[in-house]
Amino acid sequence: MSSPRGLFVGGNWKMNGTLDSSKKLIDHLIASKLDESTEIVVAPPFIHLLQVKDYLQASSHPNIKVSAQNAYHKSSGAFTGEVSVDQLVDAQVPWVIIGHSERRTLFGEADHNVAEKTKAALEAGLSVILCIGETLEQREKDETVSVVTRQLNAVEQEVKDWSKIVVAYEPVWAIGTGKVATSQQAQEVHSEIRKWAASKLGQSVANKLRIIYGGSVAAKNCKELSTQADIDGFLVGGASLKPEFVDIVNARL
Ligand code: PEP
Repeated sequence: MSSPRGLFVGGNWKMNGTLDSSKKLIDHLIASKLDESTEIVVAPPFIHLLQVKDYLQASSHPNIKVSAQNAYHKSSGAFTGEVSVDQLVDAQVPWVIIGHSERRTLFGEADHNVAEKTKAALEAGLSVILCIGETLEQREKDETVSVVTRQLNAVEQEVKDWSKIVVAYEPVWAIGTGKVATSQQAQEVHSEIRKWAASKLGQSVANKLRIIYGGSVAAKNCKELSTQADIDGFLVGGASLKPEFVDIVNARL
């Protein structure tokens, strides 16, 4: 039985591509037949973000929105190299990814940083793709649920309204490795996340909360993952730069 919530598919382009290749990715998307019930969000690098947004707007494809890959919680000031949540709002970027494991592991973002960024983003009016997930070592020590719960609790201390949050469960060991979680492994954790949401935020919020899976999602594994009761979509890295992203958008067709 697949999830009763609509499919949400995000493409995280990370630090890849050129102005030209970004346009080509959009050209391919808008020329393809896309499941109209899938909500699609693409996250280009900052330097390509506005061009992609304008290009999508000119193509009048209302189903595809843009996201930043990160944002800083202060609205302005002496923070060289950062882009603020308010600047994203000003530029009419509706979504932001926060807490991606690459931000956590390579750039030292701790749970409290992720929480304050999520809070600031929501207060500014953005929607947030909030990433959580355990490392291989933590999974092997059977700490998966306690790690994701800790990561969620940190945000819950700062944020009470979760209606504009999509939770992306991304086991670190599955990101960019080609090692996808089995649909059973992913479903188990998604179900625990929904139980957490029911206990902390209430059953009706939990029922509506979109919990998406990320970690080596590809055309060949997305269909089975998408049949799981608590998997409401995907955050896609590598495959979002390839034509097969369309197959992932259409996973439920
Ligand atoms: C990601 O970076 O969010 C991701 C899931 O990457 P990949 O699909 O390449 O594993």
